[in-house]
Amino acid sequence: MADNCVFCKIISGEIPSTTVYEDEDVKAFLDISQATPGHTLLVPKKHVQDIFEYDDDLAQKVLTKIPMIARAVRNFDPAIQGLNIVNNNGEVAYQSVFHSHIHFIPRYSADEGFSMNFADNTANYNADQLEEIAARIRTKLEK
Ligand code: AMP
Ligand code: ZN
Repeated sequence: MADNCVFCKIISGEIPSTTVYEDEDVKAFLDISQATPGHTLLVPKKHVQDIFEYDDDLAQKVLTKIPMIARAVRNFDPAIQGLNIVNNNGEVAYQSVFHSHIHFIPRYSADEGFSMNFADNTANYNADQLEEIAARIRTKLEK
């Protein structure tokens, strides 16, 4: 439990939330600002700031629940045609609550207001440039 963390307060019950799922390790609840109807957040009960603080044990406890939550959010309304799963890490990446969380955002149709089409990026990289970036990432993989 971290001081002044809104999600720790939700987990402790100090702040109300609309619970979708809960077990000893995680809680899933509706985002107070619904990007689309059904927008859900999955959080570890342990306070960690972001994905970089997960060890294997926490990852197993939290991340293995993603498909289960994804299916429930995908299936609660027959109008839902797809789902974005988003995890923001750091202010520059639009993280605003610094208790790690995963967004589940149901998508109802392609022409609705909310957009996050990564394929629209203007930067184009050739195969050599992509290989150079991938090689640098590979050197950072933990053994
Ligand atoms: P992010 O910008 O990725 O850090 O996402 C934080 C999310 O937490 C935002 O979508 C907020 O709408 C949501 N949020 C903030 N306070 C609450 C709250 N009390 N209950 C539910 N969701 C919240
Ligand atoms: Zn917290």
